[in-house]
Amino acid sequence: MKGDGKPVSFIEDCAVPLEHLAEYTERLTRVFEKHGTRGTWYAHASVGTLHVRPVLDMRRDGAEKMRAIAEEACAMVKEFKGAYSGEHGDGLVRSEWIAPFFGPRLTACLGEVKAWLDPRGLMNPGKIVSPSRMDDKSLFRFRPGYRTDVPATALDWSEWGGYDKAVEMCNNNGHCRKFDAGTMCPSFRVTGDEMHLTRGRANTLRLALSGQLGDEGEEAVKSALDLCVSCKGCKRECPTGVDMARMKIEFLAGYRRRHGLTTRERMVAYLPRYAPWAGRMAPLANSASALLKSALGFAAKRALPKWRRDYFADRTRPDRGGGREVAIFVDTFNRWFEPHNVRAAIRVLQAAGYRVHAAQPLTPGRPLCCGRTFLSAGLVEEAKAEARRTLQALKPWVERGAAVIGLEPACLLSFRDEFCAMLPGSEVLARHAFLFEEFIARELDAGRFSASFTPLAKKALLHGHCHQKAFDAMPAVMRVLKLIPELRIEAVESSCCGMAGSFGYEAEHYAVSMKMAELSLLPAVRNSKDALVVADGTSCRHQIADGTGREAWHVARVLEQAL
Ligand code: SF4
Ligand code: SF4
Repeated sequence: MKGDGKPVSFIEDCAVPLEHLAEYTERLTRVFEKHGTRGTWYAHASVGTLHVRPVLDMRRDGAEKMRAIAEEACAMVKEFKGAYSGEHGDGLVRSEWIAPFFGPRLTACLGEVKAWLDPRGLMNPGKIVSPSRMDDKSLFRFRPGYRTDVPATALDWSEWGGYDKAVEMCNNNGHCRKFDAGTMCPSFRVTGDEMHLTRGRANTLRLALSGQLGDEGEEAVKSALDLCVSCKGCKRECPTGVDMARMKIEFLAGYRRRHGLTTRERMVAYLPRYAPWAGRMAPLANSASALLKSALGFAAKRALPKWRRDYFADRTRPDRGGGREVAIFVDTFNRWFEPHNVRAAIRVLQAAGYRVHAAQPLTPGRPLCCGRTFLSAGLVEEAKAEARRTLQALKPWVERGAAVIGLEPACLLSFRDEFCAMLPGSEVLARHAFLFEEFIARELDAGRFSASFTPLAKKALLHGHCHQKAFDAMPAVMRVLKLIPELRIEAVESSCCGMAGSFGYEAEHYAVSMKMAELSLLPAVRNSKDALVVADGTSCRHQIADGTGREAWHVARVLEQAL
């Protein structure tokens, strides 16, 4: 919940016999109103439990209201012969309500058993036995007088009411500690360390912004964010939408201003700027990067992406295909390292009757770029400059109603995310920009996609880029692959591939990166020896190549193969 008032859980687990639930709920609602608040309700009425959290501002009068509401709820639950804790565990705020329900004898027994098993009181002190008071302010996350000191921010945080408010969205529920489905949180999945978890990061940031870490705040946040791969898993999967990838950019923006960049960070960040020279001198650039790789701090075991002399040079033959116009936004990575993906996408679109133009800058010079490499380094001003150029170049297409199509999820999807945080008002581009597969799926819906494909009798093993998952683009990839007769599609249930831009290339992150990949992606690839591996992310394809020696294909190449 945005703002200072948050749903606070302390009576959310009360249960009453079902026949009294309606009356209990109604009376509790009146209690909330008496204290000038309301409840957020959820859960399972059929067993007499309506999980409810009153909205309280704990840095102001929340503590007093919490106790008053708890006392009234306790009296009502006793009256209805219910239970104060119906389902969940008891912690700091609910333990003091055990005694009123269990009575002094049983409560003393609980203490005795705990003392036998834990004579030194090491395990969960203050919970269930010898509890602290629920309104002990020294234990609050937001103590009265809690204040944050937020310097001018590089990104727009108005959606949350400020950067600090976005950080405070984490309510500690721990959903990010899951290991099963979804993406969140890859660094925790391989380290098992709270510090490398979305929640740990949000708490570290909150403590630093509120001055509770003293002079060590900045380095503590830097360490906590070190293994965050900016996968945006939390943006989609965290119940309160904690967006740690964006927070990392914000933190790095301030950090770089104060501490500058290393040579390696500079090389990665400014890649789009020197790429035109490196591409023209590809053999020399490749020899130089192989020679300097280790000295610069890249992992010796990694092969750096290879510069290509046959890079994509903006020639698209828009006269081919007589139908609707589309503009293809060619990202830095596909342009210079894997131009065959761009050519494949253009061929498929032309075969379906589209007139394909390569979007170009309004003033001649270096090609367009979304600013992704600058954002990863925290160079927000440089990223904004790239975003402005891209916006200006794409505006005429958008105004003509032409779709803008991109291939690299991390780049194209930044139009829907970071662009809006950097340049408020740029949402119009977000509405017209699509990943290749999203565009085709949309055209299929509109009955406008006419290409047909020949059968491909094999299995396609599909790995989704984290940002595709974060923006729900995977159903579109599946749908597009299904256009190919006889292709059997199997999606890998994987989190982040671990490469995450330059992260996996960095010597100090290599081992963690490979661990992330070994969680499920690389074993799945090894176990599908004859499958065609499909991955739309540049980083993912490199990780798969490094980890298994197999070449993964962008979905555009798969479709081109079946034309
Ligand atoms: S980051 Fe999100 S999922 Fe993790 S504890 Fe905080 S609110 Fe819950
Ligand atoms: S962006 Fe990814 S790695 Fe970073 S905290 Fe969120 S889920 Fe974890």
